[in-house]
Amino acid sequence: MENIDYRSEGIVFDIQRFSIHDGPGIRTIAFLKGCPLSCKWCCNPESQDLKPTVMFKADACIHCGKCLGACKYGALSPDNAALVDRAACKACGECVNVCPTGALVMKGKRMTVSELVRELKKDAGLFRRSKGGITVSGGEPLVQAAFLTELLKACKEQGWHTAMETTGLASEAVIEQVFPWVDMALLDIKAMDPAAHRANTGVSNDIILKNSIAISGISPTVVRVPTIPGVNATESEFRAICAHVKTMKGVGTIHILPYHTYGENKYGLMGKEYQFKETPSLTKEEIAGLQRLVEGEGFKCVIGG
Ligand code: SF4
Ligand code: SF4
Repeated sequence: MENIDYRSEGIVFDIQRFSIHDGPGIRTIAFLKGCPLSCKWCCNPESQDLKPTVMFKADACIHCGKCLGACKYGALSPDNAALVDRAACKACGECVNVCPTGALVMKGKRMTVSELVRELKKDAGLFRRSKGGITVSGGEPLVQAAFLTELLKACKEQGWHTAMETTGLASEAVIEQVFPWVDMALLDIKAMDPAAHRANTGVSNDIILKNSIAISGISPTVVRVPTIPGVNATESEFRAICAHVKTMKGVGTIHILPYHTYGENKYGLMGKEYQFKETPSLTKEEIAGLQRLVEGEGFKCVIGG
């Protein structure tokens, strides 16, 4: 095994245990901060900014003003319904430390590879017994490529299976650096239509589609399609996605991830508006129709993660 820099530091915003959806067996998911996309339906909007994010629960605030006195950067104002000016916030955490009611919560903290592996080791027995492992998610883990690479190398040294949820948006050099350490890539394809992709994620799909082919040549890959009414939940989009996936290497499975609103309340905690409020869920019949289409194109189709 190559040298591993266990002191490499990243920003982690959550660790979830006992997942059975994001790779084989039972998995522990480490969520890394930062994402180059801003999907309008994102269920982890607190992941998008690379720096830690202060969440404000207005209904827990007793207006004591302690946080206002603690902030040295002028980022807090009682005149701001969202309380926090995110552009001015330096994520120092002082306001969270002084808040007596827990109305302010910090999402994201610095961890070294060594600290994160120590946390993950608590589940090592479970990984072994269930043939599971670790899944890295985000945000987009590739944003923290240096930390991610050292983390994955450290996991491989422990003998753990590694999976990664990814949008595939990164430089060619980062793709080549990271994926040799990934046993399973769970790659999102959000839309083939370039205009729909840009309008709903904030970025072009050019590099993502190009990288998807490169990724499938390095790591066994499963394609996942967050299926969003009004964006990509159509036969023509799914036919285009299937046609693209056929140009990737060895991809046999496509997951349909039906649109849900689980992350909606987090937008309020960040003073943001959830733009998909009026979007209806897909009906069972609509999901079944898309599943038939994917299977008819020769893929195994899984509903959900
Ligand atoms: S985290 Fe620091 S900079 Fe940000 S609002 Fe709180 S005290 Fe101000
Ligand atoms: S310290 Fe907490 S309870 Fe007091 S004003 Fe700030 S957010 Fe509200």
